[in-house]
Amino acid sequence: MTSTITSPTIIPYIKADLHTHTCASGHGTGDRITDMAREAARRSIELLGISDHGPATLGSADLSYFRSLILCERTRFGVELRYGAEANILDAGGALDIPDDILGNLDFCIISMHRPIYTSGSAAENTRAYIRAMRHKKVRFIGHCDDPRFPVDYRELVQASLSAGVMPELNNVSLLPDSYRKDCRAGAIKLLDTCAVLSCPIILSSDSHGHEHLGEVTEAVNLIQEVNFPETLIRNRNTARCTSTSLR
Ligand SMILES: [Zn+2]
Ligand SMILES: [Zn+2]
Repeated sequence: MTSTITSPTIIPYIKADLHTHTCASGHGTGDRITDMAREAARRSIELLGISDHGPATLGSADLSYFRSLILCERTRFGVELRYGAEANILDAGGALDIPDDILGNLDFCIISMHRPIYTSGSAAENTRAYIRAMRHKKVRFIGHCDDPRFPVDYRELVQASLSAGVMPELNNVSLLPDSYRKDCRAGAIKLLDTCAVLSCPIILSSDSHGHEHLGEVTEAVNLIQEVNFPETLIRNRNTARCTSTSLR
C-alpha cells in the first residue's frame, strides 16, 4: 500500500489550507487528522494546517491535546502537516484560551472572536483586543474578522497586523449564503480594500469542519475577483511563500 495519494485532475486555487477542524473541535465532524490528510492529498492540497478550537469552545479538546500535537507526524499521504489552533479571544485585554507555553509548541495560531465566549465591545475595543492578542509570536492569522457582530476598525487592525507579521484570512464559510455567521460580506469587502491599500498579505481558508469542504474557497475567490484584490497578496496560493512567511 502506497503512502502517497495523487489526484492530478483536481487543481485547487490554494495550495495550503491552514484553517481546518477535526473531531477535536467537538462539533461538526467526526474526522480525525488522518482523514483530513487523506482528503487533502486527494484534493492536491500540499500543506494542511490543523487548527482546532481552543478549550473555551464548548466540547472542544482540552489543553493536553494541543500540548501533544508536537508529537504528530509532519507528513501524511504526501501532504505536509502543520499543527496549530484557532484560539479564542477571551476578553478586551486580548487574553487567549491557550497559555503561552503551549502556543509556543504549536506551528501557528489563528485568533478568533466567537460568541458567547467573547462579548463584543465597540469597534475600538474589539480592535484593541485583536491587537493585544497578537503579542504571542505564534499568532500568525486573524480568523474571520468580517463578522458584523464584532465590529473593528479595519485600518488600525490591518496596520497592526502588518507590524506584527500577522495575516488576516478571508474565510470561505463567512461568505456562504447559508453561513451561520450572517452578513459578513460588507466586512470582508472592507477588509480586502484595506489590505489592498496597505499591501497587507492575506490567506484564503476553508474553515472546513472535517474533510468535506477542505480546500474549498470558491466564495472567497469570487469576492477576490469581484473587488480586483491583487493575487500577489494571497500567500497560500503558493506553498513555499506560505511556509516562509506564515509558519516560521
Ligand atoms: Zn471561528
Ligand atoms: Zn474555524
